[in-house]
Amino acid sequence: MAPQYDAVVIGAGFGGMGAGIELDRLGLSNFVILEREDDLGGTWHVNHYPGLAVDIASVTYSYSFEPNPYWTRLFAPGKELKKYAAHVADKYGLRRRMRFGTVVDGARWDEEHQHWVVSIAGGETVTGRYLLTATGFLSQPYTPPFPGIDSFAGKIIHTTAWEDDFDLSGRKAAIIGTGATAVQLIPEAAKKTKELTVFQRTPIWVVPKIDTAIPAPVQKLFARVPATQKAARLVNTSMLEALMVVGVLHFKQAKPLNMAAGVLAKAHLRAQVRDKEIRKQLTPHYDFGCKRPTFSNQYFKTFNQPNVRLETNSIDHIEADGIVTADGNKTEIDTLILATGFNLWDVNFPAIEIIGRDGVNLGKFWRDNRFQAYEGITVPKFPNFLSLNSPYSYSGLSYFTTIEAQMKHMGRLLGEMFRRGETTFEVTEQANTRFLDRVTEKLGSSVFYGGDCATARSYYFNQHGEAALLRPTSTVNAHREAVSFPLDDYTYGKIA
Ligand code: NAP
Repeated sequence: MAPQYDAVVIGAGFGGMGAGIELDRLGLSNFVILEREDDLGGTWHVNHYPGLAVDIASVTYSYSFEPNPYWTRLFAPGKELKKYAAHVADKYGLRRRMRFGTVVDGARWDEEHQHWVVSIAGGETVTGRYLLTATGFLSQPYTPPFPGIDSFAGKIIHTTAWEDDFDLSGRKAAIIGTGATAVQLIPEAAKKTKELTVFQRTPIWVVPKIDTAIPAPVQKLFARVPATQKAARLVNTSMLEALMVVGVLHFKQAKPLNMAAGVLAKAHLRAQVRDKEIRKQLTPHYDFGCKRPTFSNQYFKTFNQPNVRLETNSIDHIEADGIVTADGNKTEIDTLILATGFNLWDVNFPAIEIIGRDGVNLGKFWRDNRFQAYEGITVPKFPNFLSLNSPYSYSGLSYFTTIEAQMKHMGRLLGEMFRRGETTFEVTEQANTRFLDRVTEKLGSSVFYGGDCATARSYYFNQHGEAALLRPTSTVNAHREAVSFPLDDYTYGKIA
């Protein structure tokens, strides 16, 4: 029995779209992209809170093969990313293969027919020879179970469910969380709210954002002479690479560079915040890079405003009209904004139930053993499956680096499978173990294990204390291996 599709892709963000483009290139054009939201763009569709912008410069945070000369700023606002996603979907003919509002419950490898059976909420199933999950890393919003939160009588809003017509003017609001999202939202919220209390559990490293509008003549130059934008991309990407490889991954060997980043962030804080006590509270006590640092010229300054208060006592419970902290004090509020991030390790790896060969459940396998995936993309016992958001898959600082390395891996793997006249692939146990051993060893030099990350509460670490999210190699290495991994790291077969 032939499957309905060559491939089923789950997720219509930039990862899923990159996978679709590569499938077309490989001639596997009969694919469907299933998306739970009502439109494409992934994180850039879901997130539209005030202040949203990229924090990796746009020349780099985009597909290298589809440059956009018309970014209006070095760091484009969220809306432009959404527009760019729509442009890519239309240009590459992806939109017509997308099914929105389609919540996938799970997928199961059908051994007899050698294809994947994907279950959609409501009872429908679709089948595909290949399964690609592109469900994102930060796709499962997290709301902490604060005692009493259900009794809160005011407005509660999570940053991933922002209502564009929701007006903060005159409100007494609280923002819980000081991650990258809060760093962007807080300055905007402070402009409107009557009172804004920021509940911080762990301070974040913030460095200046060298942002500026891109004037029309430069946009024209980028459009007319694409090599100029390519050069800008190369320069920016190289700087990010140096920061990541030297400052974070080779922390042991290059501690001074990492420390210099911390010194810069502290100087930025000193220059922006007048009150010594507040400065102290905003200063992290863990090494730079343990947790994703962020960029902002506005965040620290906001704490000078008379309507803004930083609260560092831990939250005890929530009442109908306020938040009570462990010291017994209550902050009265009418609006509760949850900038509390995402759940990665409990529900996102994988984001849906995936059952492979011999009934192996991917989530259980990862939890019972260790989080692992060969080259951050394939797992033994899961034939014809590419898990694009896997442990150790995120390479470098821009997600597009990861996406494009994975597109190359797909090209090499499926190309070889076709060359052999086969239709199935599966990574070998040995290759997977070799990769896991290698990344484990490499992590030993990183800030995650060599630095002081004890108080960081970083989502880079899983529940076992392993920094299993980022690939601890340069992006150059990731791209080189994507086109040169040993072809015998996979077994190939034919449909019986
Ligand atoms: P996040 O970094 O996980 O931050 C969540 C915040 O909520 C943290 O400050 C956390 O405190 C706090 N929190 C969670 N549970 C809490 C509790 N029980 N009590 C008190 N505080 C609690 O999430 P995010 O800010 O949404 O950012 C996630 C990632 O998205 C970023 O790291 C970045 O990669 C990406 N992002 C990118 C951009 C961009 O490129 N423009 C913008 C936004 C986000 P603890 O630190 O103490 O846990």
